[in-house]
Amino acid sequence: MKPLRIIDVVKAVGAIDYTSANRFAEINSVVFDSRKATSDSLFVPLQGETDGHDYVQSAIKNGATATLWSRPAGEAPEEIAVILVDDTLEALQKLAEAYLNMIQPKVVAITGSNGKTTTKDMTAAILSARFRVHKTEGNYNNEIGMPMTILEMPEDTQVLVLEMGMSNFGEISLLSRLAKPDIAIITLIGDSHLEFLGSRLGIAKAKMEILEGLKPEGTFIYPGDEPLIADELAEESHFRQLTFGTDETAAVYAYDIVPGKTRTTFHVNLDPSVDLEIPVLGVYNVRNALAALAAAQVLDMPLAEVKEALATFQLTANRTQWLDGVNGSQLLNDAYNASPTSMTAVLRSFAKLPREGKKIAVLGDIRELGERSAELHAGLAAEISPEEFDQVYLYGPEMGALYENLRTVFPEGTLYHYVGEKTPLVEKLKSELQKADQVLIKSSFGTDLLAVVAALRV
Ligand code: ATP
Ligand code: MG
Repeated sequence: MKPLRIIDVVKAVGAIDYTSANRFAEINSVVFDSRKATSDSLFVPLQGETDGHDYVQSAIKNGATATLWSRPAGEAPEEIAVILVDDTLEALQKLAEAYLNMIQPKVVAITGSNGKTTTKDMTAAILSARFRVHKTEGNYNNEIGMPMTILEMPEDTQVLVLEMGMSNFGEISLLSRLAKPDIAIITLIGDSHLEFLGSRLGIAKAKMEILEGLKPEGTFIYPGDEPLIADELAEESHFRQLTFGTDETAAVYAYDIVPGKTRTTFHVNLDPSVDLEIPVLGVYNVRNALAALAAAQVLDMPLAEVKEALATFQLTANRTQWLDGVNGSQLLNDAYNASPTSMTAVLRSFAKLPREGKKIAVLGDIRELGERSAELHAGLAAEISPEEFDQVYLYGPEMGALYENLRTVFPEGTLYHYVGEKTPLVEKLKSELQKADQVLIKSSFGTDLLAVVAALRV
């Protein structure tokens, strides 16, 4: 980050008071993990499972220059500058906002039920062909991660690409008002977090909070085939709109999509002469690429200029990643998270891949679906036919509903349901897997099919 004087931090966070031996001392990093403090760090004690205030001594030992502090002033450390605030998280957010105003990059903000991280990585990769880009690392997308991402931005950043995540109303609103995007992207409205948001309309409304901070004259990029978004948009808006999709009604659309195991090729109407390619599988990833290409279009970058960056972008680990499995099998690891929408998208793309050995699906419980859990699990049956899948392994109690639905269509010895201990599932798979078999493994993080992936990889 660009170095900040302590008095600038004091001003930015609206501090109640502060102590400093040297008013002009500077900080050049902000940390909330005391182990990451170095000399010139500002330590931000946050309240999590533990209270960060308890770790200030460790931050001091590691060289921190200053700390925020919301406990009584009398209890504050004396060795370093102390900046007294009411609420340390709010102060962190205010500091990020002030820093953003100082650097003034173009801001691209990305939310949606699935595909945020992928779209963020694609967008950052292609914009890097022309601009100095800073982006959210990994999945640092919440009320702490996003301000931290902003504060880590180098001084010469031209474009900032931010992922915004949420599980409830009001969260995207806060992030968007803080970041004030020039371009706001919704990847899709799915059905994650239904438990908290009630319905798909609730989900759409929560995602559309991203418009609350969108700059006047900014651009909103969203899937043209999602009526919930179109319905919710006010008739007159102060921003530009750009839709994407896989049919000709979208402003930016893909066609001639050719699915492959490790890459997908396609064309986009913006310039039919450019052959495009992404180094990942799945029509859903083409959609993520379209959102990213639409953002590049807003910033006047033609397809020819971004083609190479898109073809070689690096996907964050664990998102539809091929791994070598036991007995020469191939594992498609997508066990990092799941919702009915993403499960459907991945099952469809997996089914379309050129067949090599057996096609096998290992699917685990999807969490946080609330009352509709059984119905949504059962509904996945529409995507799983014996013509496309040679074997199906279901894991977890919620998958019982899908098992009941598939039992009548799958021949004996091709469909299994496990609960509890994962060892019997792993042992069964080890005995079944053969050379060239393709195995899709997907579940919510909490179901932990990553453990099955780990047991099957070589
Ligand atoms: P998180 O909520 O964990 O931050 P995310 O929105 O960042 O997730 P990604 O990490 O990009 O999403 O992708 C996670 C998984 O979602 C992928 O592995 C894939 O299964 C699915 N997915 C990604 N993009 C789409 C899409 N456009 N439509 C449906 N499913 C998708
Ligand atoms: Mg993410």
